[in-house]
Amino acid sequence: MLTYEAKKTINACRFCWMCRHVCPVGVATGKENNGPRAKAMFLYLNEKKGNLEGEIAQDLYECALCNACAANCETGYEPAIYIREARANLAAGGLVPEKVERVIDALERTGNVYGANIDMQAWEKECKKDCGVLVYAGAAALIKTPENVRAFLSLLNKAGLNASLANANCSSVAAEYDLLGDVAEVREKATKCASELSSHGAEKLIVLDPSDAVMFKQKYPAWGIRVDMEVVTATSFVAGLIDAGKLNIRRQSGHVTYHDPCRLARDLDETEAARHIIAAMGYELSEMLESRKLTRCCGGQVLAAHAPEIVEKMAASRAEEAARTGAEILVTACPGCFANLDGGEYIEVADIFSLLDRCT
Ligand code: SF4
Ligand code: SF4
Repeated sequence: MLTYEAKKTINACRFCWMCRHVCPVGVATGKENNGPRAKAMFLYLNEKKGNLEGEIAQDLYECALCNACAANCETGYEPAIYIREARANLAAGGLVPEKVERVIDALERTGNVYGANIDMQAWEKECKKDCGVLVYAGAAALIKTPENVRAFLSLLNKAGLNASLANANCSSVAAEYDLLGDVAEVREKATKCASELSSHGAEKLIVLDPSDAVMFKQKYPAWGIRVDMEVVTATSFVAGLIDAGKLNIRRQSGHVTYHDPCRLARDLDETEAARHIIAAMGYELSEMLESRKLTRCCGGQVLAAHAPEIVEKMAASRAEEAARTGAEILVTACPGCFANLDGGEYIEVADIFSLLDRCT
């Protein structure tokens, strides 16, 4: 069963392939099935004839939900709507491909797509208790890029703030929403997470991972779920600290380029805070052709968990584009992007907060 909105979008996309050139998955694999048009056509036929979902299940999960198609759609359609709904139907019908099922199992067991246990007690030792500022680092950061979390906490410390770290085992449901769609079980988990975060009594929640920030800032309010504190992205918060003169920055020389995380740029409409941080460090910035809202997704952590071979190609082509700007450093502001991107011998990949921590 698909909603009216999903069916309307499918009907628009099945006759159109105007956005095929911007789909980073389609470009990486060269498979037409990876663009929105083929997915829409399959789902249309499935509605008419039924029983096709099993055959197209793999294609429906080979999408990073990056919204590049929607950002380039002249008529305002958003394929992610029917892709998420189709995934919810696949999960309800027991038709999820095996390798995706393994990731969902890991998520249900541990609260993250890696199936790793996060030792929050060890992290708490690095934080203060009962602070006005709560940091939601997210599973990708704590598991894949812990050094960047430490750099972020160190920056807050230098700015005179004692931050406490939210329990990442309380999932924002960003991954669950991507894999299972908008279903009751996902909303229940979100409600639990919001209530645990609110119980800290902090005034501000700083969110390091843009995928989590989209949930707290957009999806939770749309679902009527309330986090009782102001929610801000890590980049906008740090840009504010710089404006308030809270960080003593030694200006650097050098040439960098910046990879806009797709959920930060497109979903949250935030592109300038990171550029402000880069300018404050003194670096010269060269833009990639696909930047700001036209940024190209490097795969995300959910797709990387079940289709690493696709994400490797997506990230490699993004690093190549970065190297072509002539920059020495590719700056990222998302733990998931940092974990995916590898500049090899061509360009160094650096997390924006680690870079800033080094020069404060
Ligand atoms: S999202 Fe827009 S441009 Fe892309 S296939 Fe659908 S209708 Fe066409
Ligand atoms: S959301 Fe991104 S990956 Fe998915 S079909 Fe659209 S452009 Fe391709």
